[in-house]
Amino acid sequence: MPLGTTEHPLRVAVIGSGPAAFYAVEQLFKKPPLVAEVDMFERLPAPHGLVRYGVAPDHAKIKNVTRAYDTIAENARFRFFGNVEYGKHVTLADLSRHYHQVIFATGAQTDRQMGVPGEDLAGSHAATEFVAWYNAHPDYRECQFDLSAQRAVVVGVGNVAIDVARILMRTPEELVKTDIATHALEALRNSNIREVFLLGRRGPAQAAFTNPEVKEIGEMADADVIVRVDEVQLDPLSQAQVDAANDRELTRKIEILQGYGARTPQGKRRRLHVRFLVSPVALLGDGSGRVTGIRLVRNRLVASETGSINAEATGEFEELEVGLVFRSVGYRGVSLPDVPFDDRRGVVPNDKGRVLDPESKRPVAGVYVTGWIKRGPSGVIGTNKPDAVETVNSMVADLEQGSHWQPAEPDARAIEALVLARQPLAVTYADWRSLDALECSNGQACGRPRVKFASVEEMLAALGRVTPT
Ligand code: NAP
Repeated sequence: MPLGTTEHPLRVAVIGSGPAAFYAVEQLFKKPPLVAEVDMFERLPAPHGLVRYGVAPDHAKIKNVTRAYDTIAENARFRFFGNVEYGKHVTLADLSRHYHQVIFATGAQTDRQMGVPGEDLAGSHAATEFVAWYNAHPDYRECQFDLSAQRAVVVGVGNVAIDVARILMRTPEELVKTDIATHALEALRNSNIREVFLLGRRGPAQAAFTNPEVKEIGEMADADVIVRVDEVQLDPLSQAQVDAANDRELTRKIEILQGYGARTPQGKRRRLHVRFLVSPVALLGDGSGRVTGIRLVRNRLVASETGSINAEATGEFEELEVGLVFRSVGYRGVSLPDVPFDDRRGVVPNDKGRVLDPESKRPVAGVYVTGWIKRGPSGVIGTNKPDAVETVNSMVADLEQGSHWQPAEPDARAIEALVLARQPLAVTYADWRSLDALECSNGQACGRPRVKFASVEEMLAALGRVTPT
């Protein structure tokens, strides 16, 4: 009997529930005459990955994308197993007994290090931890960020760095209008941070942040943006790169940054400094092991053999007195049990989404990746759509070649029974929709868009699945 028909549907497991996972499901449902049944497995009771736990709370509109995910989840051939962890409650061997194919869409769950002395001092954190904490990620609820100092540094000039700087610079009145975690709202209400330094190692023409984000920092209620005129003037190499690129977005970004350089500060109570051409060489501490400052080296830009423009240290140093440091130099994928991993790049080795055996370099039948675990932590939410199209096209092509798992128990009820035996507290998408509605009504009760549950226990208690402690 052909696979992928009503009588004999293609059975696919998806690991992860962020944008990459949902766009892959959407593609599988959009491929008539293929009939696919999809089960999504998510470690947390709440789906949507970085849309819920990464997108900044003051970017509410971006989060509306979850409505599209809810629509995908309404498909009768879709099931959600939340609070179920791959590697703990289900293994690759289990999946191969129950599905024809699996897609890993687990993202990039950790951060990259800067590799400078003092990085481990108290008060030095990964930006990704701060992001997860202010977004009420259950794993980060207990994190402590000492906001008693007046100055903080964020290393890196990507969109995550700018999110972190913005959240540190927002007033409580701005934050209360968002769905920021209640614990973060309270901590930031009492924050003493008045100055944040965003540090770019290269120049404005190489900055990773995007224009809407750069514009937005100039519109905050009580923070001035301070840019040094000399640091946003283009050097000849960058000027040549910008001229050759003929890219309106890039030209506009430089104009906005130079515009900040020309601005007179309005005397707002907070100051966000955007610096370029500086790299940290060490974090400085006092005797108690706390960060008290950062030592920077000034860089110049040089062309590499491949034509990219790189930072090269000059011998000129400066020190900034700061009590809090966030490194925001990129996310990194984490290896998955029984799945090949490229430790250097922090991704699963793959060819158009087909996972490759590191030895033979040949595809591992039945196993696929999409999103950041496939391509690395780049692009915006929508970038995951074409990425999912590519992976699903590979899956369909392989099906036609007969390359897939031959599950011994393809009956949908069999895996459900197994999962529930191993994790009786698994939650469904309907459970999530109840939690979602509760969060919104709890928010309404106190004039906020949403009050997020910040622990797995709180979520399960709200569903009546455990007794609150
Ligand atoms: P990113 O865009 O890759 O930026 C990383 C930054 O870290 C770059 O400025 C990079 O500089 C710098 N960096 C790397 N290594 C460094 C080092 N050793 N010392 C100093 N600086 C270093 O990464 P991200 O900000 O984590 O964002 C990840 C992805 O999510 C991006 O695609 C981003 O656009 C997306 N995102 C989007 C939004 C949004 O749409 N609003 C919000 C958040 C995240 P170099 O360029 O010199 O390497």
